[in-house]
Amino acid sequence: LTMYDQKRKQRGTIGVFSEDLHEKIKSEQRLCEQLRHAIDKNAFSVHYQPIICADTQKLTSVEALLRWNCDGKVISPARFIPLAERTGLMPEIGAWVLNHACIDATEWPFKDDIALSVNVSISQLLDETFINTLDKVLASTNIAPSRLYLEITESVFANNVNAVASQIHNVKARGVKISIDDFGTGYSSLSRLQSMPCDFIKIDRSFVQNTNEGSDTIMRATMLIANEFGCKTIAEGIETLDQMNHIKTLGVDYIQGFLYAKPMPLSDLKTWYNENK
Ligand code: C2E
Ligand code: MG
Ligand code: MG
Ligand code: MG
Repeated sequence: LTMYDQKRKQRGTIGVFSEDLHEKIKSEQRLCEQLRHAIDKNAFSVHYQPIICADTQKLTSVEALLRWNCDGKVISPARFIPLAERTGLMPEIGAWVLNHACIDATEWPFKDDIALSVNVSISQLLDETFINTLDKVLASTNIAPSRLYLEITESVFANNVNAVASQIHNVKARGVKISIDDFGTGYSSLSRLQSMPCDFIKIDRSFVQNTNEGSDTIMRATMLIANEFGCKTIAEGIETLDQMNHIKTLGVDYIQGFLYAKPMPLSDLKTWYNENK
């Protein structure tokens, strides 16, 4: 044991626990402070990941994924998005992403029918400024609303049912499409799908990458449900040819994953497209 460990041991478990917790809170606060200034400091960028049609193997849409370069260190959205949610920063950050991605889409070298998919978190969706932001972005970038998809994670459906349903209604009234992200991992009731019309269901990669009967059953059931509700399915996280062939036999419509491409900056996406069209 080092001196430090011995001291910690003497102080007892509770002392060590609160010290660690204190450190943790401190570092979260520092991170939050940096996140607050990330837009002004130009520290965000958007990467794009292709989504491919299972039948034709052609590009059909592109998902925008936010990246944060915090003083030279890339921080994962899985870490900072929940932080932004908790600290009220998400509406502003989300508006930045939506605007940035739609502006980038005007520069795409693809045919007009490639769609742009943007993640929208719960606090952003329910923020009073959301629809106004959406309208402004639609008007200023001239993107066809039917080419814009908003991805909402399934867990969103667990609460605020009426508020969420009414926002989805507002979004759909503009012709923008809705995708349910990470389907099957949340705890919302399936009956919620009735009041929340969606266009796409994204099957979470945890099912795709599990090679057991249970996962297959869930994926098959998901595709049946999607079909009943008139939604298309997208499989996330396809990394191997085997996974691709397997998910195709299950009947998925679209495929996304490292097998085709990782998320990349706009310039790389242009190169990727020229090499893969
Ligand atoms: P998501 O929306 O489910 O996005 C898919 C995530 O899976 C991305 O992680 C992507 O890089 C990763 N992925 C794609 N294909 C594969 C694969 O074949 N294998 C593996 N292992 N991973 C794959 P990323 O970019 O780190 O984003 C994580 C999550 O952060 C996203 O999950 C989304 O929930 C959230 N997020 C990212 N950008 C935004 C944003 O602009 N707004 C909001 N609200 N959330 C965002
Ligand atoms: Mg997504
Ligand atoms: Mg997803
Ligand atoms: Mg996912």
